[in-house]
Amino acid sequence: MTLRALPSVDQVLRDDASRTTLERFGRTATTAAIRVSLEEARGAAQGGAPAATRADIARAAERALEAQDCASLRPVFNLTGTVLHTNLGRALLASEAIDAAVETMRDAVALEFDLSTGQRGERDDHLRELICELTGAEDATIVNNNAAAVLLALNTLGAGRDAIVSRGELIEIGGAFRMPDIMMRAGVNLVEVGTTNRTHQKDYRAALHAQTGLILKVHTSNYRIAGFTAEVDGRALAAIACKAGVPLLNDLGSGTLIDLTAYGLAREPTVRETVADGADLVTFSGDKLLGGPQAGFIVGRKDLIAAVNRNPMKRALRVDKMRIAALAATLKLYRDPDRLAERLPTLRLLARKRAEIAAQAQRLLPRIASTLGASICVESCECESQIGSGALPLDTLPSAGLRLTAANGHALERLVSALHALPRPVIGRVKDGALLLDLRCLEDEENFVKTFAALRPDALA
Ligand SMILES: *Cc1c(COP(=O)(O)O)cnc(C)c1O
Repeated sequence: MTLRALPSVDQVLRDDASRTTLERFGRTATTAAIRVSLEEARGAAQGGAPAATRADIARAAERALEAQDCASLRPVFNLTGTVLHTNLGRALLASEAIDAAVETMRDAVALEFDLSTGQRGERDDHLRELICELTGAEDATIVNNNAAAVLLALNTLGAGRDAIVSRGELIEIGGAFRMPDIMMRAGVNLVEVGTTNRTHQKDYRAALHAQTGLILKVHTSNYRIAGFTAEVDGRALAAIACKAGVPLLNDLGSGTLIDLTAYGLAREPTVRETVADGADLVTFSGDKLLGGPQAGFIVGRKDLIAAVNRNPMKRALRVDKMRIAALAATLKLYRDPDRLAERLPTLRLLARKRAEIAAQAQRLLPRIASTLGASICVESCECESQIGSGALPLDTLPSAGLRLTAANGHALERLVSALHALPRPVIGRVKDGALLLDLRCLEDEENFVKTFAALRPDALA
């Protein structure tokens, strides 16, 4: 075939096969995609391939546009066993929160407008009362995430001054959030006291002087020191801070508003307890155990919250109307604790019992096995889930799932890739030479089976 046999861009554009492509993607994008497809066809023809027809080029262009159009930020099945998976977007929102957020996206809202006076209002007004009611704090404000909350609180309380913190609490959490670095960027001088495993009241007292801006306590949520240990609890530390006339900032990390033991989970200090123990400011996340959108809470003394709000950095860290609406709707669910586990997905998933998940595994086993074909072996299994996001890392939750094994490591890799390539990707965990699908976070069973049916067994063999 000669190169002349290839159609022109214009001929492909006018071909019937391009009609729907033009409707879906518009003239500019379609023309550009046809040009690229023609270029590829020219290369293939030079390599000896038969010349492509107009329809071939049109279809290739459409496929390329479809691939470009496919969102990379798309829903997946989180079967990793980590409920609050930072890389998979942490908390799933309650439908009340989703509806509230969507409403603010479509319309103008009274975000900073006091409807009773017609005067300018504050965006925190939509949340302040709710947060204070649920935490017992005097006042509250919201920023982009807890990292921002810590940064802003540190900068407000201690810029140019000392912040005293225990050597046992200088944590790193994922994503390069290291407490010493954040303190430096907040402009406070880090004064470490105690040792890695033991810090005493006298250590804090000895470090206090005229240059002290604050005492910082960090909830070591993502690791635990065991053995010969000592730490000063929040209440004792509050007494020391109060006597010295410096504020105590307590970074709770995940932060929970309720006693989690009621749902079979390990104990975490609640925000209310931390406030009651005398912390002057407390910071915590919106999208960890609380189960809302990404956000950072700063709650505590009225005068200190006012100072936080006067800090020019506040503006750079503030949240938008969608998240304020979602947060308010999420927090309102906490007013009805009896129905909380039913309505708040994070709690609902964390509270699922192994027996229930195991029954689900039994139900799914034959349906999944039949779509996978003979080359993949599927069994039900018991496994351990994690809360995730650094919360209670040593306390796993008894769970169950499906264990997929292949003939060899190579075949297992192909299976993992094929599951990631599904329209709604299935993300599991490779462990001991098998792909483990922890079913704790699987609620949409029918869709899951349908998704699996799109796998081609021949691609796995
Ligand atoms: C998770 C965590 C943070 C950061 O919170 P983000 O909401 O991820 O910004 C800060 N401090 C502690 C102790 C944490 O666990």
